[in-house]
Amino acid sequence: MTNFSMTIDGKPVSGQDTFPVKNPSTGEVTGLAPQANLADLDSAVAAAKKAFETWSLKSDEELQAACEAVTAKMGEHAEELATLVTKEQGKPLNGLGSRWELGGAGAWAGYTSGLSLPMKTLQDNNEGTVELHRKPLGVVGSITPWNFPVLIAIWHIMPALRTGNTVVIKPSPYTPLSTLRLVEIMNEVLPAGVVNCITGDDEGDNLGAAMSSHPDIRKIVFTGSCATGQKVMMSAAETMKRLTLEMGGNDAGIVLPDVDPKQIAEGLFWGGFINNGQTCAAMKRLYVHEDVYDAVCNELVAFAKNIPVGDGMSEDSVLGPIQNQMQFDKVSRLVKSGAEKGRVLLGGEPGEGLFFPVTIIADLEDGDPLVDEEQFGPALPIIKYSNIEDAIKSANDSTNGLGGSVWSKDIAKAKEIALQMECGSVWINKHGAIQPNAPFGGVKSSGIGVEFGEEGLQEYTDVQVVFS
Ligand code: NAD
Repeated sequence: MTNFSMTIDGKPVSGQDTFPVKNPSTGEVTGLAPQANLADLDSAVAAAKKAFETWSLKSDEELQAACEAVTAKMGEHAEELATLVTKEQGKPLNGLGSRWELGGAGAWAGYTSGLSLPMKTLQDNNEGTVELHRKPLGVVGSITPWNFPVLIAIWHIMPALRTGNTVVIKPSPYTPLSTLRLVEIMNEVLPAGVVNCITGDDEGDNLGAAMSSHPDIRKIVFTGSCATGQKVMMSAAETMKRLTLEMGGNDAGIVLPDVDPKQIAEGLFWGGFINNGQTCAAMKRLYVHEDVYDAVCNELVAFAKNIPVGDGMSEDSVLGPIQNQMQFDKVSRLVKSGAEKGRVLLGGEPGEGLFFPVTIIADLEDGDPLVDEEQFGPALPIIKYSNIEDAIKSANDSTNGLGGSVWSKDIAKAKEIALQMECGSVWINKHGAIQPNAPFGGVKSSGIGVEFGEEGLQEYTDVQVVFS
C-alpha cells in the first residue's frame, strides 16, 4: 500500500491521519492520501504567501522558463501519472482515457507557458502617458473535481504560475493521488512554496470551504458542481476574492434534418460519452429532427454497441466504470426514470460494481429527469422535435449554459442557430472539443469567468493603470 504525501513549502507532509483512495474498476485501495486539518491549510497558505514575495518579482522570461521546466518534468512522468489517474479515476489508459488526459495536460501546460501579458500603452501623447499593467494577485487557491484530475489541475496551476502567483491546490477526495504526485514532481523544478498541495475528505474540516474564506487566499479557481460553486462564491464575498468558477452543464445537441446519420454517429457518440459522460461539457441531451430521428437513433446505437467497456488497466478497454458510488446511484436513478417513460435503445440496467453500460434512451421529453438534470454519466436521452425554434427554446430552457452543438451540412445555417444558443461554447458537427487557445467558460449558472488563452490568463491578474 502506498502512502502519498502532501507538499507544503517544498517538503513532504503526511498529515495526522489518512484516507483510502479506491480503484473504481476493482474496489481495491490504490493508495492512502493524507487527511489535512486546518493547521495544514494555514501552513500551506503561509508557505505560498512567503514564496509569492520572490516569485512575483521574477521577470516574464524567468516565469516562462519555469513553466516550461514544469511542462518538461510532467512529460517525463506522463506514463506514471496516467497509470495513477486510471487507478484512482477509473478511466482506461487508452482511447480518450488517461494517456490522452496527460497528452492534453502537456499541450495546455506548453501553450500556457508561451503566453504573456505585457504592459499595454493606452496613451502616449502631449497630454501624458497611460500604461496598463497586469499584476499577480498573490496566493491562488485551486479546488478541483474528480473527472479529469491532472488536466484540470494543470488548467488551474499553469496560468497562476505564469502570471507570478503562487498556489495551494486541493484535489477532490475521490482522486487526490495523481495531484499529490503531480505537485511533488513540479516541486523538483520550482522554488519551495510556489505550489503546495493539501488533501482531505469533505467531512470534518472541509478544506474547500476553509480555502474559500481564507483571508490570505486572493483568488479561488474552482471546477465542480453548481451547488458547491455557489457555496464558494458566498464564502468568498467577505474577503473579496477573485473567482473563476467552472461548474456543471446540461449541454444540448441539436441535429438538423439535412445530416447524414451514419457520418455523424461517431461524433455524436463521443460528444455524449467522452470520459463515460463524466465531462462538464459533454452532450447531455440530444434533440433530433423528426425526419432523421429513427436513422440517427439507429446509427448512434450501431456505433455505441461496439465500444469495449472494462477495467481501466486493460489495454483493450475504451470506457471504464463510473468513478464513485454517489455518481453511480445518481445515474441509476435517472436511467430508471428514463426507462419507465422512454424507449431504451441500449443498456439501461446497472452492471457489476461501478460499471454501468452505455445507455441510450429515445422518446423522452423536456421535464423528464434524465433530460432536465445533469446525469454526468454514460446515459444519453434523445428527444424528437419538428420545429427548430422549439428545439432552440428547449436547449436554452436550462439554468446551465456551458456548451452546445448543432449538427448540419449547412454550416452557415448551423452558425446562425449557434448564435441563438445561451452557452459559453457552441460546436458545429462536434461537441466538447476544447483547445488551449480558445477561452472556455459557462454562462448563467454554469460559471463565472473563463479559462484558457489570453482571456483566461488575465483572470489571474489585477489591472493597474499608471498615469504619467
Ligand atoms: P463537487 O462540487 O462535489 O466537488 C468539487 C470540489 O469541491 C472537490 O474538490 C470538493 O472536495 C470541493 N468541495 C466540497 N465541498 C466544498 C465547499 N463547501 N467549498 C469549497 N469546495 C468544496 O464536484 P464533483 O462531483 O467533484 O465534480 C462534478 C461536477 O463538476 C459536475 O457538475 C461537472 O459538470 C462539474 N465540472 C465542471 C467543469 C467545467 O469546466 N465547467 C469541469 C469538470 C467538472
